[in-house]
Amino acid sequence: MSRFFHPRYANLKPYVPGEQPREKKFIKLNTNESPYPPSKRAVAAAKAEAERLELYSDPTAKGLCEAFAQVVGVSPDEVMATNGSDEILNFAFMAHCGADRPAVFPDITYGFYPVFANLHGIPYTEIPLRGDFTVDVEAICQTPGTVFLANPNAPTGIALPVSEIEKILQSHPNDVVVIDEAYVDFGGESSVKLIPKYENLLVTQTFSKSRSMAGARLGFGIGQAALIADLQTVRNSTNPYNVNRMTMAAGIGALADEDYTKANCKEIMRTRAKTATALAELGFAVLPSETNFLFAKHPNIGGYELYRALYERGILVRHFNTPKLKDYNRITVGSPEQMEALLRNIKEILEEIK
Ligand code: PMP
Repeated sequence: MSRFFHPRYANLKPYVPGEQPREKKFIKLNTNESPYPPSKRAVAAAKAEAERLELYSDPTAKGLCEAFAQVVGVSPDEVMATNGSDEILNFAFMAHCGADRPAVFPDITYGFYPVFANLHGIPYTEIPLRGDFTVDVEAICQTPGTVFLANPNAPTGIALPVSEIEKILQSHPNDVVVIDEAYVDFGGESSVKLIPKYENLLVTQTFSKSRSMAGARLGFGIGQAALIADLQTVRNSTNPYNVNRMTMAAGIGALADEDYTKANCKEIMRTRAKTATALAELGFAVLPSETNFLFAKHPNIGGYELYRALYERGILVRHFNTPKLKDYNRITVGSPEQMEALLRNIKEILEEIK
């Protein structure tokens, strides 16, 4: 650390993204990307837009917001486009929390929440998941503060019904409740339908998973117009050109191709079910997933040992080295061929340790 780094950041522990290897060719099942390419319409639109990169992007992202609002069934002033959903989450911490307004989230959830809280000097309460890895809704309802809840949750993959989200909204009438729907397109129930009823609801979504656009960085906040207007103030005080021209065009292209997105999600859900069954047959305990990943542990091999053994064989999964998660691995649902390779290698590894 240089002597110029402000002391307020001295203890900051940044978010550690999953490995993005360049050297070796891996079957990459570690950061929940889609195994399928983006929509051809998205790619063509981004290519064409590259010709206009001398111009700044539209700071209101008008066309993109209109297209997205129509797809999710809200009005354009109820959505805001961001540079990945990480950015809207960051803006929500900035807009809705402070030293006097803590954040509340489960102890096992998206690892970026405590990082954002620490970045902005926001105190937070972590609510332990129950023994079966489900979210303790009652405990969240009783804890004051701005709620951040990934639904479905990560890395567990478990989803809550909207009726449970509604309990949290009702228990926190004077706090914003942020529902992070990064994985909602793989079988979860979206809380967007609650927006007309709850002024304190902010839903976040991403194009990184179901729309195969992780590399484009596109996310959204969805909420009542007054809430979005505040987030626009934060965005325009940070980076008004937060979504670049090519991403904006690709986003509009992807939204014109919703059948493609839906077909990919369906295929991933089918592959997920098959893979979960096959893992269970091999002796794994697999949590019920409504996402594009599976969270699983095996009684005969530690989480880290399995991660390493797969790594040696060119398959990358995600291991979290914390006391509650260390026995597990989070495995992205890839293509059927990738899953066959995964299962074949796991079988061999389990044979070898017998
Ligand atoms: N929320 C959750 C729960 C996630 O797992 C991720 C992906 N790492 C994100 C948000 C952020 O994704 P992105 O910034 O790519 O939209």
